[in-house]
Amino acid sequence: MTGAPVHAPMTQFAVKDGELIVGGVPLSRLAARVGRTPFYAYDRQALTARVASLRAAFPRAVKLHYAMKANPMPALVGHMASLVDGIDVASAGELKIALDAGADPHEVSFAGPGKRDAELRQAAAAGVLINVEAMREIVVLEDVARELGIAPRVAVRVNPDFELKGSGMKMGGGPKQFGIDVEQIPELLVEIGRRGLAFEGFHLFGGSQNLRAESIRDAQNQAYDLALRLAGHAPAPVRFLNLGGGMGIPYFPGEQALDATPIGANLAQLVERARSDLPQASIVIELGRYLVGEAGVYVTRVIDRKVSRGQVFLVTDGGLHHHLSASGNFGQVVRKNYPVMIGTRAGDGPRETASVVGPLCTPLDLLADRMSLAVAGPGDLVVVFQSGAYGASASPQRFLGHPDCVEVLV
Ligand SMILES: *Cc1c(COP(=O)(O)O)cnc(C)c1O
Repeated sequence: MTGAPVHAPMTQFAVKDGELIVGGVPLSRLAARVGRTPFYAYDRQALTARVASLRAAFPRAVKLHYAMKANPMPALVGHMASLVDGIDVASAGELKIALDAGADPHEVSFAGPGKRDAELRQAAAAGVLINVEAMREIVVLEDVARELGIAPRVAVRVNPDFELKGSGMKMGGGPKQFGIDVEQIPELLVEIGRRGLAFEGFHLFGGSQNLRAESIRDAQNQAYDLALRLAGHAPAPVRFLNLGGGMGIPYFPGEQALDATPIGANLAQLVERARSDLPQASIVIELGRYLVGEAGVYVTRVIDRKVSRGQVFLVTDGGLHHHLSASGNFGQVVRKNYPVMIGTRAGDGPRETASVVGPLCTPLDLLADRMSLAVAGPGDLVVVFQSGAYGASASPQRFLGHPDCVEVLV
């Protein structure tokens, strides 16, 4: 033991003859197939395996939703739609991708602050569940109901009076732009009934990137209790009870993979309680990152190897503009390294301390800061692991005018 924290092992991809295997193909061969670097590759098999392991840990009655904000690549959404019970979208653009992918509209839900009138109309026409987050949305939907002659399906997104402890990003509790404060909800439920909307349930999302099973369990229990209290004011029985998600993946040295087993055991108790408390309700868990994050890699090619005053820099053709979060600029307070390796030198060769940077003319363009890596040079392929979520779509691809990255599902 060296004492210094290390990255959790990346066991989702095999190594053969000194190369990382992604989608069953050695990395250099995959790069040849893609035709250019940089690219993101998402491994179908790893996605399928992750959903299967979560199904094994969760009670069968729990509905598993994919929050496609994490990765909206259409082919990936199509693959996920075939594995999960529903898709959660956060814009009309995402709604289109989900419907194109073949998701059942009845199992699609639409959340997010500031839904435009046109988006609400599209979602109502599609027949998806709209998680309303403001009184204005209810007023607009009443007009849409009259115009289209349908009763839009709505759930209420609740801003609870508690927080999800230990989350990378908190999205509930205290003053928030998300959801509606719990204090205002009884009154709002009356309006939903009075205006002829089809009330179907509650949505509570506490936050994101949590690696503590106890915190997630506590938040789910509190969300359940709160929903039960609110259900007494509802104009119709609760059919969907979305308790959020927040399950994280290990990115940084010292972080460990989250064990889904205790979360599943707790959900089994909630399912049992709901059988008598809310007999028509399905419990929904919505996950983005946890389902897709570990199945993706970002691959970039070394253009230059420079030594500056004794420090080695591998200058690559990819960087911050494709992978903002690996550069440390997507909400992180302190920059830490993602797990990175030289995918074309995955054997036991010599190692050195090197930094991996991109081609952008800014010091923020950093993919690895003084990491232990295999000795590499021009032509080698650098792999950034844990890149299946909040990658390409969450990065400023136009910044500095370099080519866009390619995304493949393999
Ligand atoms: C962002 C978001 C998610 C997905 O979060 P992950 O950390 O990727 O699991 C789920 N639900 C809502 C409402 C979100 O805003």
